[in-house]
Amino acid sequence: MTDMMIKKSIKRVMAVLAAAGVFCGVFPETAAAHFLSSAEEWCIGNEAIQGYEKQHSIWQDDSILTLQNCLVQANHDEIKLREDGEKRYLSNIKVSGENDVNAFTFPGGFIYVTQDMIDFCRTRAADGTTDMNRYNTDSIYNNGTLAFVLGHEMGHFVNEDYLRAYDKRFAVDMLFGLFGGQGSAESVMVQQEAQDILNKMNTRQMSLRVEEQADEKGLRYVSRVPVWSIGNGAIFFHRLCQLEAANHTRQDWQRSHSKSDVRLRRVLGKMKEISGGRVEFKEDRFYLDHQLFMGTGRLDSTAEVDGLERTYYVAGQIASAIEAGLWSKACVAVAEEKDVFVKPHGDGSRLVVCAGKKNRNGTYSCQRVIGIFECSAKELQEASSVRKNKEVETVRFLYQQAAKPVPKDE
Ligand SMILES: [Zn+2]
Repeated sequence: MTDMMIKKSIKRVMAVLAAAGVFCGVFPETAAAHFLSSAEEWCIGNEAIQGYEKQHSIWQDDSILTLQNCLVQANHDEIKLREDGEKRYLSNIKVSGENDVNAFTFPGGFIYVTQDMIDFCRTRAADGTTDMNRYNTDSIYNNGTLAFVLGHEMGHFVNEDYLRAYDKRFAVDMLFGLFGGQGSAESVMVQQEAQDILNKMNTRQMSLRVEEQADEKGLRYVSRVPVWSIGNGAIFFHRLCQLEAANHTRQDWQRSHSKSDVRLRRVLGKMKEISGGRVEFKEDRFYLDHQLFMGTGRLDSTAEVDGLERTYYVAGQIASAIEAGLWSKACVAVAEEKDVFVKPHGDGSRLVVCAGKKNRNGTYSCQRVIGIFECSAKELQEASSVRKNKEVETVRFLYQQAAKPVPKDE
């Protein structure tokens, strides 16, 4: 379908909707670059969310707004808020009580995330289940993973692709939701038009491409926050794979997307790409500069995080550090947790491996958290602890790897 044809169809629907007296006010003429103006888009979304919010309990969650703010601040060149004075802006993300592991975006920058999705991301769901005994709202692994989901949804908004609705069922509901009663001549017509457009536009191929682009945006957005990793995208898809295997079913959100294992491989491919081939996964094993990381390709599990998820996180951060030119002896440093985080978790005594730069005044600023390790500065200094403490060994290994000269292309 060509753009002109899509535009024509949308204009027909808009005319019907306007005739039915559904929309607020009179729309200004559509801007040349888009089918609809930002005001039209916002208006459609605003109508649609009122229908959605009637059907489900909806609330705001400060911790979700904090994640949103982190993403917006780090990506302010692309993601705008209302106070920026832009015509097209992101509203505050809301939480939905709808019973589904899901997140979705309405036209006009209205993003919703279900409590089920939040719970799914905030437990140590290494086996794909939501284990509330392991609920952790502070973990960088969990919050980075949730932030990736939110970043993906922001990607849909920024990419302006709601019309190529990624979730057919949801999009149909969205348009149908504008109308209370069935049966009136207008509503039947509009439903037929809407169905027609969605059938034509929401081809699987188009949808998968749009999803891929949103995944790319999500990864980029999340990785611009120093404490989150593109590995958080891998963590999310790995969890989805396991959820799928455990349930023998796919969630609504997954049904409209590529298979989770395909998306997982794509994230790992991104790590390889941005690191110039130096960060690589083969059969769930991490290779750094073509060598198995620490001889096993895996970091150990901790009480906070599963070993493979932690490995994805660290590998993603190393890949981003390499991309930014920060993976070198001069840039990598070991710091105490309390010196890096304003609000350290636990007793703040753990060690953080950072990639960063020396400032002019000689101080060091951590620009990327490579990993957090369950050992203290004292333990790191004690040579004898090497054999006893794998965490100390890992910190040393990372430092040595960063200090190595850049391998030549093979
Ligand atoms: Zn999506």
